[in-house]
Amino acid sequence: MARVYNFSAGPAVLPVEVLEQAAAEMLDYQGTGMSVMEMSHRSAAFKGIIDTAEADLRKLMNIPDNYKVLFLQGGATLQFAGIPMNLMLGGKADYIVSGSWSKKAFKEAKMYGDAKCVASSEDGNFSYIPNVDELEFRPDADYVYICENETIYGTKYHKLPDTGDIPLVADVSSCFLSEPVDVSKYGVIYGGVQKNVGPAGVVIVIVREDLLHDEWLPNTPSIMRWKAQAEGGSMVNTPPCYGIYICGLVFKWLLAKGGLEGMKAINEAKAKLLYDYLDSTDFYTATARKEDRSIMNIPFVTGDPDLDAKFVKEAKKAGIENIKGHRSVGGMRASIYNAMPIEGVRKLTAFMKDFEVKNK
Ligand SMILES: *Cc1c(COP(=O)(O)O)cnc(C)c1O
Repeated sequence: MARVYNFSAGPAVLPVEVLEQAAAEMLDYQGTGMSVMEMSHRSAAFKGIIDTAEADLRKLMNIPDNYKVLFLQGGATLQFAGIPMNLMLGGKADYIVSGSWSKKAFKEAKMYGDAKCVASSEDGNFSYIPNVDELEFRPDADYVYICENETIYGTKYHKLPDTGDIPLVADVSSCFLSEPVDVSKYGVIYGGVQKNVGPAGVVIVIVREDLLHDEWLPNTPSIMRWKAQAEGGSMVNTPPCYGIYICGLVFKWLLAKGGLEGMKAINEAKAKLLYDYLDSTDFYTATARKEDRSIMNIPFVTGDPDLDAKFVKEAKKAGIENIKGHRSVGGMRASIYNAMPIEGVRKLTAFMKDFEVKNK
């Protein structure tokens, strides 16, 4: 077996220990004589899986009791519509557009009501996060929306906007469980799990109870109604059982690593290796503004598209996979999620130095 170092932005690397456990339990999950894929979602065994997953997530993120945890499907993208359907009952929402993902969410919300872009960093090719201190929100907005870590541009909010009594809704897909978070600052915190937590398709929605009500925009499908999902234990229909099981294994893995404090220290050490090197050379440029840098997604360029292409090609030969940047930024992008071992980042920086020496 030869595993590569996989720097994919998503679906992305998962912990080897988790994959090994899933493999060991594939044919017979804990004496049930069947795979998690084959069991009823109403069975005691699966109830144990989803309840334990929720309890472990609550422990990891220190989720207050007045928040519900929903395990849904459709990825983060389906919630681009789910959020207005459940929350835009007064017809208005304010969006900060800091990259492709918040732009997509904003566009989707416009189909449902008066979504307003209150700030955008598109003028700088989304290389920075708009200054949250300068923003004004409409007092009658139903919510304010941000994408906390923009996966493509490698930027992260290091300070949240102060929205007063207006609920803050945050897409945390690409920074989920990468560091401790104060859930009480958000009305809704949600993320597709394929970046940092589990297999594509599952989305976790953590929502404050007072935002769950028996009203939705017209024609909201039943499986999109958060309150119904909260009351039904995320089982308005058959949930993505196997995906939830893998998320649960990842939660256990994170708890064993020292929880989110532990992960933060490891993630910062990994990001520092890469950024310190990027800052020490003129050969490569990190494209995100320094104050807004993400510790999960790190885009960089040489400034010469042909050289970038050569880098990607030779990196692949060296066992460094999926390092090509998104077409909107070009160059390279290293996604160094929780499950990327520090050895992978060491190998990448060593490769970068070597490539620099040979191509300067
Ligand atoms: C990948 C990503 C999404 C979309 O996730 P899907 O699982 O494809 O729906 C949304 N937001 C962010 C920040 C992402 O990185």
